[in-house]
Amino acid sequence: MTRRQFTVAGLGAAAAAAFSTAFGPDQNAATMLAKFTVSQGQPPTRADKVVKTDAEWKKILDADEYYILRESGTEIPRTGRWWNNKEKGTYHCAACALDLFQSDAKFESGTGWPSFTSAIGQDHVFAKGSTGFGYLQSEVVCNRCGGHLGHVFDDGPAPTGLRFCIDGNALDFVKA
Ligand code: FE
Repeated sequence: MTRRQFTVAGLGAAAAAAFSTAFGPDQNAATMLAKFTVSQGQPPTRADKVVKTDAEWKKILDADEYYILRESGTEIPRTGRWWNNKEKGTYHCAACALDLFQSDAKFESGTGWPSFTSAIGQDHVFAKGSTGFGYLQSEVVCNRCGGHLGHVFDDGPAPTGLRFCIDGNALDFVKA
């Protein structure tokens, strides 16, 4: 093997290892995600669920909130609410006010979207979706109103290995 071949082979192995670390399925994360995923039924599953028509939602949500929560839109990174918020408090659904995420679980993901390692609980946040493309991606939905919040991935930090990547315009923040 020439020096050049050796270098190229080495780079290939390193790149493959990095790719596996960044995008490979994480068993711990998959186990954690199962806690937020219900295979039967569709959200909202809470007894106090909120059901409204599109016209009713349009009356109480602004255009940015409606686009995310009711049309499953995605805000442009660093343009929504809360991505850079570091205050202690609780993040609530902007549509139905259910508490969804705690500031203690928030971390700086570098994505420009508010990111959390966990949600308050399955009664609050519901993951819909499946594994695919060699990594896990599920839609995250409010379990009271069915509003779209963002997605969850299995490339997050400890302790869960999950990264709830949430549109800030779907959230209200209540300072502790
Ligand atoms: Fe909600």
